[in-house]
Amino acid sequence: MYRVGIGYDIHRLVEGRRLFLGGLEIPYIKGLLGHSDADVLLHAICDALLGAIACGDIGEHFPDNEPEYCGIASIELLEKVHSMIKKQGFKINQIDSVIIAEEPKLVPFKKQIRQNIAGALNLSLDDVGVKAKTNEGLGETGKSEAIAAYAVATLIKEA
Ligand code: MG
Repeated sequence: MYRVGIGYDIHRLVEGRRLFLGGLEIPYIKGLLGHSDADVLLHAICDALLGAIACGDIGEHFPDNEPEYCGIASIELLEKVHSMIKKQGFKINQIDSVIIAEEPKLVPFKKQIRQNIAGALNLSLDDVGVKAKTNEGLGETGKSEAIAAYAVATLIKEA
């Protein structure tokens, strides 16, 4: 039995924060604002995975007023979500995602980001898609005031 989940997230870009995308620190003049490391891509993937098992969302499981999650590396949240999936008898089949960022250019980092996600979830590189797009200068993402991400995940119920 297959299940599909969708995830979306957006965080503001601000000065004085480090930028993390897909568990990778990316050199840039600004970073994403948030209670955790604000890794918008991993948050979208967590929500896609949670959605596939109809198990709420990341804000429900890891509240942003919880000191335990202050500054936490989102790769740890992803691993916690993965455990929930396995506990329910599911296995991740495949993940696809889109990052929407006007800046910085993400082409040089996409493969490492895919490797980080695949490594955290015990997937092969071929099972993790990461695409990067600009927003053609439109809206908050287009003006580099925010970075957004979308993700979908398919899971298989283990026999
Ligand atoms: Mg988030």
